Amino acid sequence: MSTIFQKIIDKEIPANIVYEDSEFLAFHDINPVAKIHILVIPKKEIRNLDEATEEDALLLGKLQLVLEKIARDLGIAKDGYRVITNINGNGGQEVFHIHYHLLGGEKIGVLNK
Ligand code: AMP
Repeated sequence: MSTIFQKIIDKEIPANIVYEDSEFLAFHDINPVAKIHILVIPKKEIRNLDEATEEDALLLGKLQLVLEKIARDLGIAKDGYRVITNINGNGGQEVFHIHYHLLGGEKIGVLNK
């Protein structure tokens, strides 16, 4: 069954897209927890970091540079930001298509349980 993020990739449901190329898509989180809350995903269907393989090394490396580019383009890089990826139950993952939360635009508080 395809995830909600696959439906966004396929343009079956709308999203507020901030970046797209042949391999990646980035869009505003529908339920932001910071002034700027973007989700960055590879178009390749990978469930989460736990399911990534050696074959995904280049893709995931590039994804980090996409995160960096988006932060710069949004003008939040200098002040700083945080990148998070949640994995499975204890990580709080709800959508099982690998994604990275980019949080910024304000001071991001300390992580707590
Ligand atoms: P996670 O808990 O890491 O799996 O995070 C999933 C994130 O996806 C949450 O922050 C949700 O608010 C976000 N989300 C779910 N559905 C949508 C959607 N249709 N468009 C944008 N963000 C979404």
